[in-house]
Amino acid sequence: MAAVESGTCEGPAGMSAVKRLSHAAPLALRILAECPVSKARACVLTLPHGPVNTPVFMPVGTQGTMKGITVEQLEELGCQICLGNTYHLGMRPGPELIEKASGLHGFMNWRRNLLTDSGGFQMVSLVELSEVTEEGVMFRSPYDGKEILLTPEQSITIQNSLGSDIMMQLDDVVSSTVTGPRVEEAMHRSVRWLDRCIAANKNPDRQNLFAIIQGGLNADLRKACLDEMTKRDVPGFAVGGLSGGEEKDDFWKMVTLSTDHLPRGKPRYLMGVGYAVDLVVCVALGCDMFDCVFPTRTARFGSALVPWGSLQIKQKQYAKDFQPIDPDCQCATCKRHSRAYLHALFKSDTAAMHHITIHNISYQLTLMRSVRQSIIEQRFPEFVRSFMRRMFPSSEQYPSWAVDALASVNIALD
Ligand SMILES: [Zn+2]
Repeated sequence: MAAVESGTCEGPAGMSAVKRLSHAAPLALRILAECPVSKARACVLTLPHGPVNTPVFMPVGTQGTMKGITVEQLEELGCQICLGNTYHLGMRPGPELIEKASGLHGFMNWRRNLLTDSGGFQMVSLVELSEVTEEGVMFRSPYDGKEILLTPEQSITIQNSLGSDIMMQLDDVVSSTVTGPRVEEAMHRSVRWLDRCIAANKNPDRQNLFAIIQGGLNADLRKACLDEMTKRDVPGFAVGGLSGGEEKDDFWKMVTLSTDHLPRGKPRYLMGVGYAVDLVVCVALGCDMFDCVFPTRTARFGSALVPWGSLQIKQKQYAKDFQPIDPDCQCATCKRHSRAYLHALFKSDTAAMHHITIHNISYQLTLMRSVRQSIIEQRFPEFVRSFMRRMFPSSEQYPSWAVDALASVNIALD
């Protein structure tokens, strides 16, 4: 097991003129263990609001609060980093108010780390009227109908006001199913916008700016984007533009191409991925950080995540089932409530959604802790095999893309 420190402050300015040109980022990545078989790794990522054990799943918050869960509960679950939503917070209550509340940490009363998105993705996905020009993304506010131009500089200004530990660059987002010259244009523009974001960051000493690798499903464009962006001295990299309805075979090939070319000493964040199987496979492919609205969104429909898939609490079969959602789960919901109680509660009260949300976030965080422990103990391939055996009734049901992706990093399923 090799421990490698990188990205840390290397001493006072002026000692080594060339190296000192780039400021030290408020981030350090310590690699605790690497899987000798696959590309999986276990690290400690140190950020301004404390350590983050990776691989990590980051729950997604909206408007300063988690839907169906409080910050106290998130803290109790051992969450070390969560996402704040720049698009919503930038519009309402607005960056000035949040700055007055000592940033998003103070506003939410969240003591641990926060990652904010650029705001661009929400605009393109939620807002009907949006148009991308070299200047930025033009869209119509859903609150008052006014036209707003979000530039890379404004995105960073808002995220500087929010005070997040990790900020995301504004990128030119194209749906992963789009092909042709638009994908190439978006990739080159994302590189140019990265430079504008780097220049606009007023707090490089306490806020980390991550680049987002684009290039659609085209290996040459992805590679070109990786080559360009890794020339910039940013503290971390995200793999973007995936998990948007593309074929899973294309998805994993773009993920593994990206991790092959990203620097070993910096964190790798795969955006928008949160299904258990996808998480385990993409850890094997070398990713460290993940986020997805899926676990909290699906909870609101009564779907509880379990090691054998999911459990639909609204189904009649649970009306008289006095077991917890998962007898092995240690979360507050499973310690206190039965499937029958949650089934009954779901009909009359939104509290049921809240209980299932807690369970689902606990499931995601516990899964990632188990993954991490297996990497540290050098038994990750065996962990993957037993995870798959539990998740699927038989090996015939293993998704072929997952089998192929794991085989590409020398993990054979039985
Ligand atoms: Zn539970």
